[in-house]
Order: sequence, then structure tokens, then C-alpha cells
Amino acid sequence: MVSKKVILTFKKEVVDKPIVCELPKEFDLTFNILEAKILPRREGVLIMELIGEEEKLQKGLDYLIQNNVIVEFVEQKIKRDEEKCYHCGICISVCPPEALVIDDKKTMKVSFYPDRCIACGWCVKVCPVKAMSL
Ligand code: SF4
Ligand code: SF4
Repeated sequence: MVSKKVILTFKKEVVDKPIVCELPKEFDLTFNILEAKILPRREGVLIMELIGEEEKLQKGLDYLIQNNVIVEFVEQKIKRDEEKCYHCGICISVCPPEALVIDDKKTMKVSFYPDRCIACGWCVKVCPVKAMSL
């Protein structure tokens, strides 16, 4: 089993179509919805974790793309500017899945694990030097 956290953007033409509900039925995928929102131009955005067999997960992603859903991977969207980050640690307290943590109490450096990120955006809001971007 593998899992992928994805950002799915549904243009207004497809926002009311039952596309996601086919993922468990057709591809045996389970999913956790991490965030759901409707943008001002009536586009929908779902951030979700998809879980299933690798081949079926890829087929499920292909199915979404074929149905005009824009698929992006969370870990490719979240970035930390290593030059700007001065390891103040403010972002640690707001990061729900512990994607930002101090591993080494001696150095007190903040480690960043993009694969744990759920794209909540809290670190982007609190970082004083705008080192985090989404
Ligand atoms: S809040 Fe910004 S500067 Fe501080 S540790 Fe986090 S990313 Fe680095
Ligand atoms: S967007 Fe930032 S605060 Fe939210 S999960 Fe990802 S790293 Fe943590």
C-alpha cells in the first residue's frame, strides 16, 4: 500500500460532477479529506490523502486528470527557503502533522519533512521571514 497527498482543483465546469466517489469503487482507493474549499470563481479545491495499491493509485490519478481535475502533489507545492529560515521554531507549534520539528536538541535546528505536510498553510502565515511558501 502507498499513500499520496494531493491537491485536486476542480474547475467550475466539473465541480458538481461525482468524480471523486469513483475512486473507491473503480480503483479500491481509500481517502482522507484534509481540506475542502470553494474558491471565489466557483472552483473547488480538495486536499486529500489517497491510499491504495501503487498501480491502482496511479490509475486513479490518471482517471482524475482525464476528467479535467488538476492534480498536484502536496510535497511538491510546499517549499522552505533554506537561505531565509533562521530556525526560530515559530512554525513548529502550528504544524499539525509535525512536518516541522526539532530533531536535535543540541543544534535546535528545525527539520522540515515535506512528505508529512498536509498543506494547511499555517507555517506560511506565521513565519516572520516568509521562508515557507505554498
Ligand atoms: S518560522 Fe520560518 S524562520 Fe522560523 S523556523 Fe519556521 S521556517 Fe524557519
Ligand atoms: S503547510 Fe506548513 S504547517 Fe501545514 S502541515 Fe505543511 S509544513 Fe506543517
